[in-house]
Formats: sequence, C-alpha cells, structure tokens
Amino acid sequence: MEHLQHVTGGTVSHSTRRAGSAHQVAGYDEVGRLGEEAPCGHSRTEGLRPTASWLHTAFIGLGSNLADPVAQVSRALDALDHLAQSRVARRSSLYRSAPVGYLAQPDFINAVAQLETGLSPRALLDALLALELEQGRTREFCNAPRTLDLDILLYDDLIHHEHGLTIPHPQMHLRAFVLQPLLEIAPESDIPGVGTAAAAARQCKDQQLERLV
Ligand code: ADP
Ligand code: MG
Repeated sequence: MEHLQHVTGGTVSHSTRRAGSAHQVAGYDEVGRLGEEAPCGHSRTEGLRPTASWLHTAFIGLGSNLADPVAQVSRALDALDHLAQSRVARRSSLYRSAPVGYLAQPDFINAVAQLETGLSPRALLDALLALELEQGRTREFCNAPRTLDLDILLYDDLIHHEHGLTIPHPQMHLRAFVLQPLLEIAPESDIPGVGTAAAAARQCKDQQLERLV
C-alpha cells in the first residue's frame, strides 16, 4: 500500500532518544525502528523482534458501551485502517461482555484488531487516544462507561514500561473479552512475560462472553 512504502525496505539504524519528542520512546525512532538502549533507565524495552520491513504487528483491543456500541466499534475498526503508516490485517468478530469493576452500566461490545504499523508504541498510543476523543470519549472515573476504549494489547513481542504506557496491556491476560477475540484472529498468540493467550483464556472461562454473528 502506498502509504506504507516509506517504512518498508529499510536497514537497521541506530537512534537515541531526543528530549521533548512526544512521538519517540527509548529504543525507537518515529517509525518504530530499533535504536539504542534507554539512556536514563526510565524506560525498559525488551524482546523487540525487528522485521525486515520495519512494520510491526500490534493487537488493539476495542470496547464500547455507550451511544450505539456496535456502530462505535465498527467505526473505530475502519478508523484504525486509516491510521498513518498502518493497516488492519485482521479483525475479530464483535463480542458482548458484562461490565467489570463498575457493574451498574450497560454491557460492552468488544473486538480485537491486528494492526500492521510503522508507528512506534508511543505514537500508536497517541493516535489511539486521539481516535477515542474523536468518538466522544470522556474519563469520569475508572471503569466508567465509554463510547470507545482503544488499548494496545501487544506490540510484536515487546515488554515495555514507561509513564502512561505498559505493553503488554497489564490486564489483558485476565479478561475473556480481550483473549477470546485475540485467539479468534491469532490463536498462537503469546503474552510476553505471562504465557500463551490460550492458557490465560482457560483461566477466564467463567467470564460471560457472547460472540455476535
Ligand atoms: P482502561 O483502558 O484501563 O479502562 P483508560 O482507557 O482510561 O483505562 O486508560 C487510562 C490510561 O492507560 C491511558 O491514558 C494510557 O495512558 C494508559 N495506558 C497504559 N498502557 C496502555 C496500553 N497498553 N494501551 C492503552 N492505554 C494504556
Ligand atoms: Mg483504555
């Protein structure tokens, strides 16, 4: 695809983190290329699997329980396919799940998308948060109802911690509404630092989840 061409065919380059760049994280440049170690120890990045093309595989969790959730998730799946340097390679079915944490709210509609992207993890998170805002997301309290929630579940086989961004997503292995759609499109998925997604899903089998046709 034309909008991906400028991130394909590259060779390994080394970049250091430039202070003040919102779209860079330690170890990556703006298109997610592997760079040098974090200079100051604030971030920890392990397990990057460089690809020949500089495209990375990220799995995105989608959820909505306000303002026509099926339409919200469907619209967000299309929007993900139009993100810069990115395309949706696979999308799961839609699933209906009971709320967790704060129970007095409508059921959720969930899905998972496999995204091929040239964006770094931080640039991808920023793009997802912008999409949430475009679809009317507000944050009143933890686990509140929402028009759209977009989470980075996995990014290659990366383990990464920095302020405001943890990969793999720290609760993904506990949530059937994440694991079942993920397994539908990527049955062999591993959750770095945790184990296989299939094993995690077996631990969540009591959680209510309905696959929609
Ligand atoms: P939740 O998704 O847990 O219900 P929010 O959507 O309100 O909560 O997210 C709160 C914050 O979580 C975001 O502003 C973001 O900075 C942070 N965050 C940390 N790791 C991730 C991740 N892997 N994907 C998405 N957001 C993340
Ligand atoms: Mg979120």
